Amino acid sequence: MHDKLYIDGHWVAPAQGGSADVINPATEEVIQKIAMATAEDVDIAVKAARRAFDQDGWPQLSGTERAGYLRAIANGIRARQAEIARLEVLDNGKPFPEADWDIADAAGCFDFYAGLAEEFDHNGVEPIPLGDARFVSKAVKEPLGVVGAIVPWNYPLLMASWKVAPALAAGCTVVLKPAELTSLTALELAAIADEVGLPAGVLNVLTGTGSTTGQAIVEHPLVDKLAFTGSGPVGSKIMAEAARDVKRVSLELGGKSPFVIFDDADIDEAVEWIMFGIFWNQGQVCSATSRVLVQEKVYVRLVTRLVEETKKIKIGHGLEEGVLLGPLVSARQHAKVVGDVEKARAAGADVLCGGQRPEGFDRGFWFEPTILANVPLDSEAWVEEIFGPVVCIRPFQTEAEAVALANDSRFGLAAAVMSKDETRAERVAAAFRAGIVWINCSQPTFTEAPWGGYKQSGIGRELGLWGFENYLETKQITRFQSGEPWGWYIKPQAGA
Ligand code: NAD
Repeated sequence: MHDKLYIDGHWVAPAQGGSADVINPATEEVIQKIAMATAEDVDIAVKAARRAFDQDGWPQLSGTERAGYLRAIANGIRARQAEIARLEVLDNGKPFPEADWDIADAAGCFDFYAGLAEEFDHNGVEPIPLGDARFVSKAVKEPLGVVGAIVPWNYPLLMASWKVAPALAAGCTVVLKPAELTSLTALELAAIADEVGLPAGVLNVLTGTGSTTGQAIVEHPLVDKLAFTGSGPVGSKIMAEAARDVKRVSLELGGKSPFVIFDDADIDEAVEWIMFGIFWNQGQVCSATSRVLVQEKVYVRLVTRLVEETKKIKIGHGLEEGVLLGPLVSARQHAKVVGDVEKARAAGADVLCGGQRPEGFDRGFWFEPTILANVPLDSEAWVEEIFGPVVCIRPFQTEAEAVALANDSRFGLAAAVMSKDETRAERVAAAFRAGIVWINCSQPTFTEAPWGGYKQSGIGRELGLWGFENYLETKQITRFQSGEPWGWYIKPQAGA
């Protein structure tokens, strides 16, 4: 089924029969072929999702009934967790323990939204106190409709789950387009949905390129909402196009997140969290803390330790034992990271370690974990997302200076601070202009907590209750309950 599209409960070949190779980024070998959907396939899928929403009764099921399907999907993912994680490694390149974590998280996401769907049976209606006793009013939350979900390649199944699980829980139907580089586990999700008997048309999975398949979803007039995770330029284009039909949009875009380390922090703990904040998933993480600011007094000591530990990272194929860094996802991403580091060098940055293809890794898209110092504040490396295992590090003197440097970005996805002084850490957390703030750590992500960015890092929030609200409309229902006539046009007859 990996070379088919999942539309209206069936595995089908694309109308125009196109396909593309799936490449293992560790070996550059072709491991699969996937179908390339065109606008024709998108039209069939959107119409199936429309019918499932408008006629087949998916939104009318109780939250508890929908939760039954979501829990079954969660169990289906868990039953094949190792197999799906292995597929993610081959498709994306990430080390197996990371993939295994992602897949467990994806299952947990379906369970979490099953819980919210069940609660929705009791809390989907809110009475509205009115200042006029002749009326009673309530606010009713209702599913929004057909959702076009478009996701990136860095956390293939997890990013799909962050959208599909809350959308289905809320009673929406979905047309999902995974990234063309990493589509295999989204197709596995479709297979699991099929196995558990999810009604036809409720979830459709179409593989294909952004410019053809994605664009057709974005433009389709029968899609009510676009839920997108990906790059800023594509997000901004989607938002502009959605404006034409006033489609709802939620966008999770890029970042250039700061990590401020004060001089009272434990050096080893700081080094550990800096590494986790930038080398996990080869740095291909939207919230990666890629700008590290270290208070002057401990700067040299910390940087020395960081370089020492970074050099020990085991690079290798994601299925090898003990590997902590795999290849980048594609030749294009590799070329981008190589180019970004070259530009940083040309701008005057010092490469403290890494900065090149590791020795002995001639095939595949490998890049060493890299630390850049003395990066000019106006250089691309400091300002733009590299989306690779590359961290920029610089010293600061005062708290005010650190906060100003941290916030000096058009992005505002995440930020982190480390200090033993809790009051100071909380003060800095409050001053950060970012949607996700970590204190004394970087990156841990929880299904229960809101996820999304300030400024150009996006619009709307995923995860938690906020992620569920993304897929709901609010309807006001007001009833006139007075025994007296309204009497504006038709005056009550005297003595009547
Ligand atoms: P991308 O924008 O190139 O692609 C994302 C998805 O959009 C893919 O499925 C792609 O096929 C599709 N797409 C591309 N052009 C399209 C178009 N014109 N119309 C419709 N769909 C289109 O991004 P990417 O390179 O896959 O992912 C990396 C980016 O994603 C980074 O910038 C990263 O920061 C961001 N990201 C953000 C988050 C978050 O939660 N904020 C999470 C992961 C990744």
